Amino acid sequence: MTKRATSPINEPREMRYIIVLPDGVSDVPIPELGGKTPLEVAKHPNMDWIAREGLTGWAHTIPKGFAPGSDVGCMSVFGYDPRKYHTGRAPLEAAAMGVTLKADQVAFRCNTLTVQDGVMVDHSADHITTDESAQLIDAVSQRLSCNGVQFYAGVSYRHIAVVNGPDFADVQCTPPHDILGKPIEAYLPTGPGADMLNQAMRDSVGLLKDHPVNQRRVLEGKRPATMLWFWGQGTATALPSFQSAYGKRAACISAVDIVRGIGRLAGFEMVKVPGITGYFDTNYRGKAEHALKALDGGCDLVLVHIESTDEAGHMGDAKKKVQAIEDVDRLVVGTLLDGLKSRGAFGIMVVCDHPTSTPLRTHVADAVPFAIYATKGRKDAICAYNETAVKQSTQRLEHGFELMSFFLSLGS
Ligand SMILES: [Zn+2]
Repeated sequence: MTKRATSPINEPREMRYIIVLPDGVSDVPIPELGGKTPLEVAKHPNMDWIAREGLTGWAHTIPKGFAPGSDVGCMSVFGYDPRKYHTGRAPLEAAAMGVTLKADQVAFRCNTLTVQDGVMVDHSADHITTDESAQLIDAVSQRLSCNGVQFYAGVSYRHIAVVNGPDFADVQCTPPHDILGKPIEAYLPTGPGADMLNQAMRDSVGLLKDHPVNQRRVLEGKRPATMLWFWGQGTATALPSFQSAYGKRAACISAVDIVRGIGRLAGFEMVKVPGITGYFDTNYRGKAEHALKALDGGCDLVLVHIESTDEAGHMGDAKKKVQAIEDVDRLVVGTLLDGLKSRGAFGIMVVCDHPTSTPLRTHVADAVPFAIYATKGRKDAICAYNETAVKQSTQRLEHGFELMSFFLSLGS
């Protein structure tokens, strides 16, 4: 009798890896939540399972001297040192949109947002739709008095403006979500090239004022996009491919250009998922299902980014953040764990790019908690994924970008 060939099922299987990145999920104690953080209050049994069965710790994703944004924090989580590769936020978003920058060009992030009576009311103009925004950007770009600014309309309120002249890289700009509720006067661009930017921002007010899109929004009880706002600029950047740096074929799922841009520059495959929005109505379960599909298609690692947790923080809405965490846990992490457990050896990590303080309604630069489970991997005594529980961990990575190697080194 001939011996049967060993079934592939009995051969040791390569580890498959998933990173779940709920943007800005880490937070500070909130009086409204009884002095607890949203992660402490939310029920997230699947994240807790990862912490209980695996290892937890802290990672400094924002190097000293860097502003705590998703551009910097996500670059660290992707495994790239921002001190080496970060030239600005906008070049990463431009990459996601397929906009290639020339060496002497500077890309700015350009928001369609709401300023009323000189106060920054909403950095997103009530999460204006992509279609409405595109019409506004089109109207402004046709009639702006400053020449040489090229606009590229993006998702919802997030657009790119490209200007010629590398000096623009040094202008001082302010992220609009950092000055919610404040008068804008003290936060307008200053330094080289600021005059032109200020002119364009001022012009945009007149051009947007009576635009039919805004008139309709007001009638519908939604905030109009009253102004363009430039920030987050930088020159072109290049990242070594993830395959060459880490020896893994990787894919990325995100509705947000900044994350997709880093992924694209690092050679991640972009997985399309229907119905993902970067907001509370996103297709959470679809993200998990498509991540599993990408693993089945031969990817070694899939990074799944979810934006809603960060958005709730910017809204200053603790309850919404708790709800977003519970949705991520049940629909993303739960679906992933169910799928992974039937697929052999795996590693899964939950981590965020930066904490988003709900009381401050913006990002902070503190270290972020992570939890990693890996088949046959190490285990610590910590049983929950939240700031207080993980405080007991002695695992601390001073350079957040080293978390990727750490994660990939765990398990069988
Ligand atoms: Zn944010």
